[in-house]
Amino acid sequence: MHAVYSNLLAVYGRQGWWPADTPFEVMVGAVLTQNTAWTNVERALERLAERIDLSAEAILALDAETLADAVRPAGYFNLKARRLRDFCDFYVASGGLDALSRIATDTLRAQLLAVKGIGPETADDMLLYAFDRPVFVVDAYTRRLFSRLGQLAGDEGYEGVRAAFEAVLGPDVSVLKEYHALLVRHAKEACRSRPRCSACSLRPDCPAGLDAFPLTQGD
Ligand code: SF4
Repeated sequence: MHAVYSNLLAVYGRQGWWPADTPFEVMVGAVLTQNTAWTNVERALERLAERIDLSAEAILALDAETLADAVRPAGYFNLKARRLRDFCDFYVASGGLDALSRIATDTLRAQLLAVKGIGPETADDMLLYAFDRPVFVVDAYTRRLFSRLGQLAGDEGYEGVRAAFEAVLGPDVSVLKEYHALLVRHAKEACRSRPRCSACSLRPDCPAGLDAFPLTQGD
């Protein structure tokens, strides 16, 4: 896992994630990005910002129809509007960022997971990028890449994969942030659903890549 990190960092450089101005914006983005591309989330965030200052109170003050229309570019807009409201209800009832920041990671994680519509990946996005907690985000890109590398079967449970990565990588928040961002970048650049193995820097150690494009003397 360290070798993959070093390789991707050398190829792509630092990604500077998460793309947001405030911790609350990270959390809103984490809710909206479920099952959609980030470019769609950006458009939804822009539309929200055209209507309100981005705060939980302002989101809760919007009527359901206006909120759904604002987040329309993110897809599943009625569902996501409800999820956003549920999250904002939790956020306000919990006392906001300062109060949530004082809660221990495991407890905060459990509280986030108890909010309707927040699953492990969304909770870990929030913990890592909004609260600077040392967690590893497991997403479909991670599973796909490490399955192709022969390091995951692909059907392991979320918690098992998360624990395995965290045990190896340790509690360095900057590494954990960078690693997830690099995995997303690599999934978009090379390890796509139809992978571009011929130019991939991980190919010498990737069974799937070597299968598709065996090394030659020129490699
Ligand atoms: S060699 Fe191909 S399958 Fe392996 S990591 Fe690279 S793009 Fe993915």
